[in-house]
Amino acid sequence: MERESAMENSEHKCDGNCGHCAHAAEEQDRELCLLRRNLSGVGNAVVVLSGKGGVGKSTVAVNLAASFARAGKRVGLLDVDVHGPSAVEMLGLRGASLEATEDGRIIPARTPSGILVASVGLAVPDADAAIVWRGPMKLGVIRQFLAQTEWGELDWLVIDAPPGTGDEPLTVCQDLPDPLGAVVVTTPQRVAAADVTRSLSFCDQLAFPVLGIVENMSGFVCPHCGRRVDVFPGGAAADLASKFDVPVLGRIPLDPRVCVSGDAGVPIAGAGDAGQSPVAAAFAEIAAALEREAGEKAAREAAAGANTQETSEARQ
Ligand code: ADP
Repeated sequence: MERESAMENSEHKCDGNCGHCAHAAEEQDRELCLLRRNLSGVGNAVVVLSGKGGVGKSTVAVNLAASFARAGKRVGLLDVDVHGPSAVEMLGLRGASLEATEDGRIIPARTPSGILVASVGLAVPDADAAIVWRGPMKLGVIRQFLAQTEWGELDWLVIDAPPGTGDEPLTVCQDLPDPLGAVVVTTPQRVAAADVTRSLSFCDQLAFPVLGIVENMSGFVCPHCGRRVDVFPGGAAADLASKFDVPVLGRIPLDPRVCVSGDAGVPIAGAGDAGQSPVAAAFAEIAAALEREAGEKAAREAAAGANTQETSEARQ
């Protein structure tokens, strides 16, 4: 919250020239200017959050990006899950690394399906080595990715945030200018709900919009008899959705192909035979719900812009 500045609520439009800008007087505002300018080509930014690790946050982030790409959108994936940057592996980029421009800006890697990827996992020399960084370094790296990655023009930027409600997801959510909002991932068990409640309360406290909840590992359809089994009963997503008045964006079944495709580096929602998969269909529905939300946000902003213009014309 301390990073909130006058800029956040102002009509300030960054033209990239700090030399003549009143907002650049303070270092904090200068950083935000750079960040805002860097992300000015990004249509919609979505942060994927979870209360804890292991619920499938990266799987959701990667498959959501793949689903958008499959629908012909220009997509970037920013993986700032510092201690578990698994998106690199899941997108088949093991062994790849980030390039830098002459002036030190970050050039993302590109998957065969055209997703641009920037990840902490592409920035370290050994993907298997633990990343042992103290807090300020982690936050510095997250800010550097946000402020210095060359995304160009994107329809969607999907951000795989660190789990929990600590400094790292806080930095992502507070620094991101004009986000569409958060997709919060849970599994169905009631025990999981306690962690996700904290994530939703975290968003509430930051006034960070919640786009909805994704319930992952939601039932398993037996490939032999076709019967659905609730491996993890509980219905956490429905309870949380009604408690926080947010939608359930989708339910992703447990499916060994999710795991296999993640290990193979080809997300199931973007695979050539994705049309056959209930998992890919679920991701396509989530992507469509986010497209609708983005359309509504654009319409609200256009209406607000028109009102402001009318008011200022009436005053003249
Ligand atoms: P997180 O990012 O929350 O730590 P991951 O996305 O890395 O979790 O997922 C943890 C493991 O669970 C991975 O091996 C992934 O392939 C597997 N997994 C996630 N969702 C599913 C699913 N719906 N069906 C089968 N395996 C899944």
